[in-house]
Amino acid sequence: MDHTSRIATLTEENIKLKEELQQKSDFLSMIVHQLRTPLAATKWIFKMMMDGDLGKISAEQRNIIERGFESNEQMIRMLAEISHAHHAREWKLNLALKPTDITDCINGALGSFAGEAKLKDITLSFTEKQSLPLVMADKEKICLVIQNLIENALKYNKVHGSVTVSAEQFKNRLVIGVTDTGIGIPLEEQKHIFGKFFRAKNAQQSEKGTGLGLFVGKEIVEGHHGTIWFESTESIGTTFFFSLPLAH
Ligand code: ADP
Repeated sequence: MDHTSRIATLTEENIKLKEELQQKSDFLSMIVHQLRTPLAATKWIFKMMMDGDLGKISAEQRNIIERGFESNEQMIRMLAEISHAHHAREWKLNLALKPTDITDCINGALGSFAGEAKLKDITLSFTEKQSLPLVMADKEKICLVIQNLIENALKYNKVHGSVTVSAEQFKNRLVIGVTDTGIGIPLEEQKHIFGKFFRAKNAQQSEKGTGLGLFVGKEIVEGHHGTIWFESTESIGTTFFFSLPLAH
């Protein structure tokens, strides 16, 4: 095969591959979309039962309905994570960066996880010293990162533990930290932790998950020209940090 026909074949193969990738991507988007609707409907039905809108329920029935509600919530969260991972690369390249106060993100996440923390008797706090400097951020995406780190800190924690969020300026960066007193990440698995679908062995034993949240978080933070890292000791606890450039 001469040089010109080889280039023509490769170009054709490349077009076919791109089409296949697009089809797979459309297929995934369709599945996520189709599953979302029945899960939302199920959530609503569980909620009505829990609120007694469909008739009085016994304590035993409530217990079972609550478990059903929680499993459904878990599926909703997993589906959202799959959808986020699917869009992560595209998000990374198209972030709407502008001067942002991320205090709302932190307070919003702490508020939405307050109930879960109470169930596990975990103390949730934010060591806010003064008002935070503005950072260059896409608020919606950075809120997702903060939510995921707090959710993990609660999920992989112990009963009566604590989760502390901190935010501190270092030169021209703001560093956000989420510290927990949980199961920690085994040393030999630490290098894989931001990989797609990776879950450490001790996490698999204790909790369900997709292994996608940190992968998405890393893409988002790097899209902000920031860095994400962690320090962890097995059975003692973990702190995840990420830094964002300040807005000038
Ligand atoms: P998921 O929590 O759904 O498994 P993530 O991508 O958020 O997915 O986290 C990947 C893995 O990193 C987890 O499965 C767990 O092994 C580990 N991990 C993340 N956060 C913590 C934490 N705060 N403490 C201990 N392990 C953690």
